[in-house]
Amino acid sequence: MEQIAIETKLKRYSVVLGDEALHFLPQQLKALPGSISNILIITDETVEKLYLSKLVSILSDEYKVFTHTIPNGEKAKSFEQYYACQSAALTYGLDRDSVIIAFGGGVVGDLAGFVAATFMRGIRYIQVPTTLLAHDSAVGGKVAINHPLGKNMIGAFHQPEAVIYDISLLKSLPEKEMRSGFAEVIKHALIKDANFYHWLKEHIHNLDDLQGEKLQYCIKKGIQIKADIVREDEKETGIRAYLNFGHTLGHALESELGYGSITHGDAVALGMLFAIWLSEKEYDTLHYREFVSWFERYGFPVSIPNHLEAARLLEKMKGDKKAKAGNVRMVLLKDIGHVEIKQFEDEQLLAFIQQFSQI
Ligand code: NAD
Ligand code: MG
Repeated sequence: MEQIAIETKLKRYSVVLGDEALHFLPQQLKALPGSISNILIITDETVEKLYLSKLVSILSDEYKVFTHTIPNGEKAKSFEQYYACQSAALTYGLDRDSVIIAFGGGVVGDLAGFVAATFMRGIRYIQVPTTLLAHDSAVGGKVAINHPLGKNMIGAFHQPEAVIYDISLLKSLPEKEMRSGFAEVIKHALIKDANFYHWLKEHIHNLDDLQGEKLQYCIKKGIQIKADIVREDEKETGIRAYLNFGHTLGHALESELGYGSITHGDAVALGMLFAIWLSEKEYDTLHYREFVSWFERYGFPVSIPNHLEAARLLEKMKGDKKAKAGNVRMVLLKDIGHVEIKQFEDEQLLAFIQQFSQI
């Protein structure tokens, strides 16, 4: 079992990572300051079927445990599901000494975290991630639900008391969800850690390699890099923007294709390829073609679907949070681990998207 310490300005907490880490949850709960009146586990339908009884049995000897299940998928990050969670919390008699456990992927983590951030002005919560992508969402303290006018628009910063990452739970994860989470692992390597990038190329030949110790190492490095960046940004270096690598085009692709028809990770992978292609033009250090062959090994899409229009993608990219004063700021790589943010004029970027769409 590994323990990773996460430090933020306001809080210090641990990520317990490993096979069967779930059994370390009672220990983490006992270590919390103050008493615990009761626990509400929030999970989704799939995770409920697979693992909820296991988690309940680990906790129910020592704690009064309630559970609440939300539907699967992004649509659950809604006002309706948020309201239903709050109603459950009130009905079960949660109070300021209660703890919420977010048991699932990023959707459950974001929703349950936001419920915890706002129930009675904020109570404690613990993240128990069950997807690979959640290595990203469980760290950093951002919690949110979606508004029909924008994703993650209603939210808060609320750090968990602990993260319990049991990698044995990831065995049931469908391949496309594994690939989706792996895109963010690759992103973390590319923006911050050349050694990890070389390790990935050498050790993860295909998605089947994402098991056991190798999977654990990927999660550990991903969490450490994310946590380092988030911590450094508390000093207002602005480097949190580096985490948007691949996301400017990625978000545009998700939005144009429709959420759910492409995974976040597949969209980000293609977005990273575009950013690498631009980086090669700009700095001539990286070779885009090598990344295409590398990404193909995992089954990532490597070209923009033909029916998508460059002009519409550009519009969506401008709508992205990073677009300032009409120009799009792209996160580029001068080299592996060396990020530079570059601003593009609309026409120039449009021409680049068109060119990229045709290769
Ligand atoms: P998800 O939570 O929807 O999980 C993906 C799918 O896998 C779901 O259908 C789920 O039911 C299923 N699943 C979960 N665990 C499983 C398991 N162990 N076995 C089998 N199936 C399982 O999606 P996700 O990719 O984990 O997270 C995406 C969300 O995370 C998005 O809403 C995104 O906005 C958010 N996110 C937040 C942050 C942040 O900083 N807060 C960062 C990145 C992403
Ligand atoms: Mg992302």
